[in-house]
Amino acid sequence: MPEYPPQMSMFTLAGSPAAPARPLALPQPQPPVRNRLEEAPRALSSREELFARAETLAWRLSADLGMPVRLAVTDNRSTMVSFRRGANVLQLRLHHMFLDAPESVVRAVADYAGRGHRGAGGVLDDYIRGQQPRIRQFRRESDAELNPRGNCFDLQVLFDTVNRLYFQNGIQARIGWGRMPPRRRRKSIRLGVYDHQTREIRIHPALDRPEVPAFFVEFIVFHEMLHQLFPSTGRGGRRVHHPRAFRDREKAFPHYGLALRWERENLGVLLRG
Ligand SMILES: [Zn+2]
Repeated sequence: MPEYPPQMSMFTLAGSPAAPARPLALPQPQPPVRNRLEEAPRALSSREELFARAETLAWRLSADLGMPVRLAVTDNRSTMVSFRRGANVLQLRLHHMFLDAPESVVRAVADYAGRGHRGAGGVLDDYIRGQQPRIRQFRRESDAELNPRGNCFDLQVLFDTVNRLYFQNGIQARIGWGRMPPRRRRKSIRLGVYDHQTREIRIHPALDRPEVPAFFVEFIVFHEMLHQLFPSTGRGGRRVHHPRAFRDREKAFPHYGLALRWERENLGVLLRG
């Protein structure tokens, strides 16, 4: 996978099948001279390659839609596709993952953004989900906060055990205890959360207590790890966070019944924190 130097990560260009416009770089702050000299050869080739691929993509979309497409390629973390349809031009912002998208996906972009076919969104969702690793991950400042060591349980030990026993060490994630939320009356409690972007699992600190059995914490860790394996399906307001395959696999956990029963009988204790 090519790496994009940060100063090249965003640029705009206009394309139309009749007369492809000249690519325009956005003004970017210049790096220090020494850096620039060291990085120049690689940056230059990446930049040219990016321009060429973006121009090709803009041209294909323009040809498909029969109208000029003004394309901005981004390295955005949260918005992969956005657009504005004008009378004579389509303004389109696409994540760089689309630069080498297959024909069917490019056609879906044209249908979705250019023709307003909402149904094409599913193809884009599927493609974006498959390209998750290419979406920039930062929030590095949270690294220090993610501490797996609790008073009663070391989540890293549990994670490693669960990963070995049930996932053939196939899950790649970091794990730690979440922060204790402010005390207030609660009707429900979220015992764990998995963040697809940062690949981080956080477990509710209410579980770090001697009266909580290890198999139950293990089950919650197992559940969050399953989220990496089975991402939510659907889109918009109809997201399914635990698809059927997820649920089936979850039931295969040896202490599944026991864990659900323990949760039911002890939820009150957990809610009181
Ligand atoms: Zn879940």
